[in-house]
Amino acid sequence: LFITLEGGDGAGKTTQATLLEEWLRRQGREVVRTREPGGTEVGVRIRDIVLHHRGHIAARAEALLYAADRAHHIETVVQPAIARGAVVIQDRYLDSSVAYQGAGRVLDADDVRALSLWATDGLLPDLTVLLDLDPAAARARLDADDKPFDRLEAEKGEFHARVRAGFLDLARAEPERFLVLDATHQPAALADRVREAVVARLG
Ligand code: C5P
Ligand code: MG
Repeated sequence: LFITLEGGDGAGKTTQATLLEEWLRRQGREVVRTREPGGTEVGVRIRDIVLHHRGHIAARAEALLYAADRAHHIETVVQPAIARGAVVIQDRYLDSSVAYQGAGRVLDADDVRALSLWATDGLLPDLTVLLDLDPAAARARLDADDKPFDRLEAEKGEFHARVRAGFLDLARAEPERFLVLDATHQPAALADRVREAVVARLG
């Protein structure tokens, strides 16, 4: 089973991934917890490039770097884990690319999606949890926790608003794959909803 968590910075993806991982392990499941960008040694180097040079990379080059990270990660980590029956919990996947490189950087969403699907030989998650949060609320939350908010892009007007709208468009287009949650709710209540959706897909 392949589960992805999506949403902007500060939406609570890491918290939900941890709660789900702990619960699945208590059920005796093998869990592989991973992320993009940076889920492999090669990916960590690509992550350094894209984050270090953020705002100064041509949009298409950025999209290709994310796709390269993804191609290597899916082939060497995720596909083998799925093949042996593990549950993969992944922080960010192709929907992040469509939302950030597509809606955010204003590349064509279908092109970005097609690039990702080519990179991964068409692998789609069984479940994608979208933690939806207003960017201003996310920023306030991260500030309160003394965690970094993506200020670089925040300076550029509506970047995060476009990313949020991009995620919601994706969820509307594939309602069976997506579980959209209001990230202002309590973590434990959100975890219950995630668990229900996972149980339904574990069969
Ligand atoms: O979620 P994580 O901390 O790994 O993301 C690192 C940064 O990269 C975040 O600021 C996120 O918004 C950005 N990102 C991006 N495009 C992606 C994935 C992440 O701009 N496809
Ligand atoms: Mg995070």
